[in-house]
Amino acid sequence: MDFQNKIIDWYKVNKRDLPWRNINNPYYIWLSEVILQQTRVIQGTGYYLNFIEKFPNIKDLALAKEDEVLRLWQGLGYYSRARNLHFTAKEILNKYNGIFPSQYDQVLSLKGVGVYTAAAICSFAFGLPYAVVDGNVIRVLSRFFGIDIGFDTTEGKKRFQNLAQELLPQDTPAIYNQAIMEFGALQCVPKSPNCSACVLQEFCAAYNTGRVKNLPIRSRNKKVKERYLNFLMIHTKNGICIRKRNDGIWKGLYEFPFIEFERNIPDQEILLSSTWKELFSGTHPIVEEISSTFTHLLSHQKIYAKFWRIYMETDFNKGFLQVSKEDLFMYPVSRLMQRYINTIITNKN
Ligand code: SF4
Repeated sequence: MDFQNKIIDWYKVNKRDLPWRNINNPYYIWLSEVILQQTRVIQGTGYYLNFIEKFPNIKDLALAKEDEVLRLWQGLGYYSRARNLHFTAKEILNKYNGIFPSQYDQVLSLKGVGVYTAAAICSFAFGLPYAVVDGNVIRVLSRFFGIDIGFDTTEGKKRFQNLAQELLPQDTPAIYNQAIMEFGALQCVPKSPNCSACVLQEFCAAYNTGRVKNLPIRSRNKKVKERYLNFLMIHTKNGICIRKRNDGIWKGLYEFPFIEFERNIPDQEILLSSTWKELFSGTHPIVEEISSTFTHLLSHQKIYAKFWRIYMETDFNKGFLQVSKEDLFMYPVSRLMQRYINTIITNKN
């Protein structure tokens, strides 16, 4: 059976018409790949189109302000990706005169570009023979070839990468790479794939041995840390207090100051805590409202957040920016902050 041709033929008939298909502009391909890494196509498409409209070429992105880039990225999460995009655009402008490098090693050396993204850019844009290995590809290979080692182990990663590279047709890497990814996204889907209508069914190891549900295998369970954050939306006579993060996953974004506890503690206890007293020492905060709990999932964290609306009658000079409510909407914020802000817009208060 010709695995590669079957997949390519299937792709020609079934592929989705997406705005980053049939192009060979490495900048656009790079953008689409970074946006799609943790986002579904349906959500990512709008972001991609907004980015290329606002920053039609690398130079435009490189010369943009970081706040502008983060604002456009807002809602996608994984903000380090947006910061890396911006950083790398500047690097390409300075080091390569704004022309995207076309050698695999150069592409791989760019900040934020890993083996997968480098292979996607090099094969789609330059026709270089590098196999892409993402979750979709792993699922197809694992099932078709019956590979039952954890894809997240060192051995598993190597095995899938080597197999994908061996299978890659040297003369048509772009179409084959796109075809196998699309096959995983549309046909060999994670849950209940329609195997009875699959062009690979006859020789599919998982199908023929009843293991479709069990493959691929993840060996490690992700440890999820629980965090309890209390965001303080402090209104002073000069505006609402916000600050810019300079570390962590929300680096570069703006947020209300928050206080964190290791467990879920009652609101009254928070008011008596030393953290609260220290922050508000010498002032008279009036707590007007405490939101219900927002649960927010990140890749390794589960955040339980409450938003406290606080009014200050006295000055509050703690080094925060103090902005009007209208201006607040202009700053790039995390999706969690945005969820709360949306409730304010909806309630119009
Ligand atoms: S037969 Fe089912 S499990 Fe095998 S490749 Fe096709 S869709 Fe995937």
